[in-house]
Amino acid sequence: MAPSTTPPTSVRRVKNIARYAIGCGAIADLEPLTKAQAAGGGDGTVCFVDEYFRGNPGLLGAFAVGEGVQTIFVPTDVEPTTDYVDQVVESIRSGPRPRPSCLVGIGGGIAMDTCKAASNLLANGGRAEDYQGWDLVKRPGVFKVAVPTISGTGAEASRTCVLTNPRTKLKLGMNSDHTVFDYVVMDPDLTRTVPRDQYFFTGMDAYIHCMESLAGSHRNAIGDAYSRETLRMCKDVFLAQDMMDDRCREQLMVASYLGGCAIATSYVGLVHPLSAALSVVLGLHHCVANCIVMRAMQPFYPEAFREFWDMAHRQAVAVPSIDGATLDATTLDALHDATLMHERPLANALGAEFRKVLTKQATGQIFRGM
Ligand code: NAD
Ligand code: ZN
Repeated sequence: MAPSTTPPTSVRRVKNIARYAIGCGAIADLEPLTKAQAAGGGDGTVCFVDEYFRGNPGLLGAFAVGEGVQTIFVPTDVEPTTDYVDQVVESIRSGPRPRPSCLVGIGGGIAMDTCKAASNLLANGGRAEDYQGWDLVKRPGVFKVAVPTISGTGAEASRTCVLTNPRTKLKLGMNSDHTVFDYVVMDPDLTRTVPRDQYFFTGMDAYIHCMESLAGSHRNAIGDAYSRETLRMCKDVFLAQDMMDDRCREQLMVASYLGGCAIATSYVGLVHPLSAALSVVLGLHHCVANCIVMRAMQPFYPEAFREFWDMAHRQAVAVPSIDGATLDATTLDALHDATLMHERPLANALGAEFRKVLTKQATGQIFRGM
């Protein structure tokens, strides 16, 4: 019998998105969808909208700021913390729609993750930090819809919502089948206004998730197929003349979705723990932090390293670097500790003995190489 590509250590039972709409103009699905949901009871719709759209509502049509909908503008200067989510949920509970029938997350990973976390908390009670980990959410959340306006993280399809706990310094999501959105509306018209650098950094998250999955040991045969197609589409987009033309924006939206499905079946690798440390210790945002980490990944992921820099150069994107002067011994220690917290992805990438590879000296060298 041929060996299975899905070994016993892998994720074997997978929940994906139940329904989605894709194509220019798909945003028109949103209003009938939420109205149908409200007809079943509850207090109507609460929308989590990326703050970018506060000053630019035109793209979303009347819906997000329309009547009968409570809109919460989600700030994106800082990635969501457990405290922020607790505070948002409290404001819903004490507001005009304490038992919403539907939640909608419109924006990037920040707005979508805030929506997912709020959905879980409204249905399960407690505080956000109680659910950071694997399979800790007991009951299905409030019906939730994703409307991505930037592509790459796969937050629209994944089974997590990444939150930083300011006390424990843990950057970890609520990994649960209940965190998966019930419906995703993918309208490539919505990503037209994303700044070019941000478009590249976020888009590369899909590429990095999938190359890490395929290089890891916790594989899943279906996840591998999603990952391979995601990589193909990312390369098609980022090696094109203009990564943001109409065709590429639709391709990248699909790649992001497939990448999110892939990651629901597997784990990331070395880039993400290092990137999470940059976020927690230096306050860098996730997607730009990943790209900075890629500066030091040649020894670990040589092929992806080469492809990544080909794509960055092709699109003339300037990936920032770390100022060596900020990396004193205390900071390097903190970066090391924040990296090694992420045991599952590190074991996926480097094996159970990953601590032998990632000594303090080794992580010091990696961070200094960024
Ligand atoms: P983001 O939410 O961080 O937004 C990035 C920037 O793009 C913001 O300034 C935002 O206002 C802007 N923006 C978004 N859409 C725009 C548009 N259409 N036009 C102009 N500007 C627009 O974006 P992201 O990179 O998608 O998300 C990062 C977050 O996602 C992090 O918090 C990260 O931890 C999380 N994440 C989650 C998952 C998951 O599976 N849940 C996976 C990876 C990352
Ligand atoms: Zn990521």
